[in-house]
Amino acid sequence: MVNGLFANWMLNLSEEDVGTYVGSCHCGLVKFRLKTDIGYSVRCDCSICKKRGTIMVRCDVNDLDIFEGKEHLSRYQFNTEIAEHYFCSRCGIYTFHKMRKLPDKFGVNAGCLEGVDVFTLKPIFIEGSKR
Ligand SMILES: [Zn+2]
Repeated sequence: MVNGLFANWMLNLSEEDVGTYVGSCHCGLVKFRLKTDIGYSVRCDCSICKKRGTIMVRCDVNDLDIFEGKEHLSRYQFNTEIAEHYFCSRCGIYTFHKMRKLPDKFGVNAGCLEGVDVFTLKPIFIEGSKR
């Protein structure tokens, strides 16, 4: 896959394309609010994303606020233990993860976001398995 596409994922969000969204897990224990550009989404083939199968949007760490149920989030780490993968301890849904390459960004499960039809997203495929 083209390197430039991955580079885009790394860029800072441009203010004009950013909107505010509310997200939740399936059972609703965990609720969060974030700013993101929904026009830029990805799927990734790294060992965990491949199995998770989620379309992700990105968000600055400071632009995500867990306003309900933070205590119900579980954290999963593996390998270098730099990335932090969060999921609801009750329903198991992946909500977001702190990225290994960019620890000041979250990848966020686009399917968790209210008002977002994931079928209308056009995710770019990035080869996280090679990084
Ligand atoms: Zn849940």
